[in-house]
Amino acid sequence: MADHEEDEFMSGSSEEEDDQFEDAAPCSPDNDPTKDKGCMEHGCDHYKRRCKLVAPCCGEVFWCRHCHNQVKDDSEQDAAKRHTMDRKQVREVVCALCDTRQPVAASCSSCGVGFGRYVCLQCNFFDDTVSKEQFHCDECGICRVGGRANFFHCSTCNCCYSTSLQGSHICVSNSMHQNCPVCCEFLFDSIRPIAVLPCGHTIHQECHREMMSHNTITCPLCLKCILSQGDAQRYWALLDQQVRAAGLFIVTMRVAYAVSSSRTALLGAAGPAGEGG
Ligand SMILES: [Zn+2]
Ligand SMILES: [Zn+2]
Ligand SMILES: [Zn+2]
Ligand SMILES: [Zn+2]
Ligand SMILES: [Zn+2]
Ligand SMILES: [Zn+2]
Ligand SMILES: [Zn+2]
Ligand SMILES: [Zn+2]
Repeated sequence: MADHEEDEFMSGSSEEEDDQFEDAAPCSPDNDPTKDKGCMEHGCDHYKRRCKLVAPCCGEVFWCRHCHNQVKDDSEQDAAKRHTMDRKQVREVVCALCDTRQPVAASCSSCGVGFGRYVCLQCNFFDDTVSKEQFHCDECGICRVGGRANFFHCSTCNCCYSTSLQGSHICVSNSMHQNCPVCCEFLFDSIRPIAVLPCGHTIHQECHREMMSHNTITCPLCLKCILSQGDAQRYWALLDQQVRAAGLFIVTMRVAYAVSSSRTALLGAAGPAGEGG
């Protein structure tokens, strides 16, 4: 994540953001060959793993909760049957190599393979793609990606944030425990990358970009300016161009706007936007 253009805004995505990671290096030759068998060869679109989960809700077997939710929630025609799976309630798994159904564990009780190179038994989470640098945050209570060393848990915001925000972000109580103001998805365990705005409020990076593309430059929650210093300069430069093209009337409007918003823009620059980006 370090190379992401919005790195200075980053909070921790929950464990499942796959898109930005390359596939893992091959399994280490030093590992126990029994345990390593089939590594990276099994799984679904969402994860490489070597066990399926027995869904605690409907008793059916799926590779992961996203696979479950696609079938049982997104595509379920009967509204009364629609439901999502709580992975923390999973009690049984099925080995992908020998098909043995068994209580949740890190490796198969029958053939001995590891169910994932990364295993979290608190989240019932298995993944062979360890290049994501998964880690479990006790305070968040879920697994996140991006490397433990790169994140800290802010107890006021109640979420893991990039260490680049440590001591320099505006804390908003439980800022991540709310829905994205644009798409309304719950942010805390969202698998999509999240931006922390200069005001401390949070939003999907994608939804943030979408807002900016419509020239919305204020936070939907508190109406403070959401531009980083660099963005603000570019924005004013763009307005200047438009002003020069359109004449005096717009000059007047632009000045009025600049006066009313310069203070929030400055506040924004002092926040997590940082100078490093
Ligand atoms: Zn179910
Ligand atoms: Zn899946
Ligand atoms: Zn097995
Ligand atoms: Zn975990
Ligand atoms: Zn955390
Ligand atoms: Zn905070
Ligand atoms: Zn969103
Ligand atoms: Zn805000």
